[in-house]
Amino acid sequence: MTQTTLYQQSPAWIRSISPYVPGKPVTELARDIGLPLESIVKLASNENPLGISPKARAAVEKAMNGIERYPDTFDLAAALASHLRVRHEQIVLGNGSNDVLDLAARVFLTTGRSAVMAQHTFVVYLLATVMTGAECIVTPAKNYGHDLAAMRAALRPDTRVVWIANPNNPTGTFLPYDDIKAFLRGVPADVAVVIDEAYNEYLPPDLRVDTVRWIDEFPNLIVTRTFSKVYGLAGLRVGYAVAAPEVADLMNRVRQPFNVNNLAAAAAIAALDDKAFVDQSHELNRRGMRQIEAGLKELGLEWIPSRGNFITFRVADAAGVNQRLLRQGVIVRPLVGYEMPQHLRVTIGLEQENERFLAALKNALNS
Ligand SMILES: *Cc1c(COP(=O)(O)O)cnc(C)c1O
Repeated sequence: MTQTTLYQQSPAWIRSISPYVPGKPVTELARDIGLPLESIVKLASNENPLGISPKARAAVEKAMNGIERYPDTFDLAAALASHLRVRHEQIVLGNGSNDVLDLAARVFLTTGRSAVMAQHTFVVYLLATVMTGAECIVTPAKNYGHDLAAMRAALRPDTRVVWIANPNNPTGTFLPYDDIKAFLRGVPADVAVVIDEAYNEYLPPDLRVDTVRWIDEFPNLIVTRTFSKVYGLAGLRVGYAVAAPEVADLMNRVRQPFNVNNLAAAAAIAALDDKAFVDQSHELNRRGMRQIEAGLKELGLEWIPSRGNFITFRVADAAGVNQRLLRQGVIVRPLVGYEMPQHLRVTIGLEQENERFLAALKNALNS
């Protein structure tokens, strides 16, 4: 295709962006291989295999009365402020937490500035950074996780954002909170440190520390969380950031006024309130993780110990194994785009889904 004059007018950093590759949708695989939808197991996008809280479902149905109105998300921000014990002014709502990551980038980055992130981490940080015209500095991973010392050393005078995922996706690695706190002490106050805690609720309670409490001491800290994972609302798109009031204020200025819709806001409020569903999802994940680890061990495969709702394992011929899994109706996530061409990431599913995956994997390895 010849590139038109208009195409050339797009800034070079926009033209340099590679499109985000999502997990293969169930509907697409069903079309590709001619299998019925119900026979396909999708374990590719870290979605909640239990679906959504019945309370959230009821709230969505109720909120259908009123979708002719523009959303009023005051109640959701208030519910989060109360849940997290912060001020209402510290909350920034997002159309998924990807949206708030993008807001943080747009507030602090522009051409001539840089952001620091680790190798093998969530690709949205790179996208959000590059879109602003800023440069992304990627530091080598340490045991597939973030090397905080290397990240500290990579900071330049023009660095304004550091991206940290804890637990990390796609590797599932976890940084002890003491290490993060020590890192925060060593970062200049004019650099925003974004800690993306999309998988926070999957941590065992004894490992969990509430980083939101650190914002008073470190006003350059931005904590992001999501309703897409343990709360099961990935399709509704709700996430949020917690930050110092003046940082949240800047992010709210660049935020689209109605970025969280009525149904999503109602579902999120109800989901926050359903602790039983969260506990059930957590427990299912804990058991499923053990099940998949045992299965991988039996197959003689290596994996990266994970604190998320997914696990990344190593197979020499990851592309071939992925193809053979797809042919059996099982969707996992290849990690070529994460510089991990010999790994696949599988989301922890229901017990029978995990079983299907392990059986298909065994076939895929032997054929
Ligand atoms: C899944 C995920 C998110 C959540 O994205 P949403 O936009 O909230 O759906 C954020 N960060 C990481 C690291 C993730 O894996």
